[in-house]
Amino acid sequence: MKDENCIFCKIANGEIPSKTVYEDERFRVILDISPASKGHAIILVKNHAANVYELSEEDASAIYVVAKKVATAMQKVLKCDGINILQNNGEAAGQTVFHVHMHLIPRYKGDTVQITWKPGEESDILSDALLSEIKKEL
Ligand code: AMP
Ligand code: ZN
Repeated sequence: MKDENCIFCKIANGEIPSKTVYEDERFRVILDISPASKGHAIILVKNHAANVYELSEEDASAIYVVAKKVATAMQKVLKCDGINILQNNGEAAGQTVFHVHMHLIPRYKGDTVQITWKPGEESDILSDALLSEIKKEL
């Protein structure tokens, strides 16, 4: 399924050219246009889903296999010191393009990429009541 107004649908399905690292029937992995670091790539799902909540279980299960494949190749070639694999859902989480995608961000010792948070307190841990509510949804 495609969304006619979605730029990542057009890129994923080849209507807009991109620097493609990998492609199969479900995904296209491209180089990010504004890379956080040398080699920053994003895995685009071909079937439109705005975020992880809408993602099909089939695409959800398959995406990490692609992440592993591409990350391994990137590490070998770029000789980066690490790779962050992450995926933003919702504006509050930093999502700017509302077609689900997974970031592969190679990391180099001493780089200035920021993917950090301040460790919280024990009092910030979810209550047992909320924990139970979440479990009931699964
Ligand atoms: P997010 O903030 O998680 O939604 O990530 C969106 C990412 O898509 C950003 O890193 C952008 O630099 C990248 N991006 C946006 N438009 C394009 C494009 N046309 N080609 C490649 N990457 C893009
Ligand atoms: Zn889309």
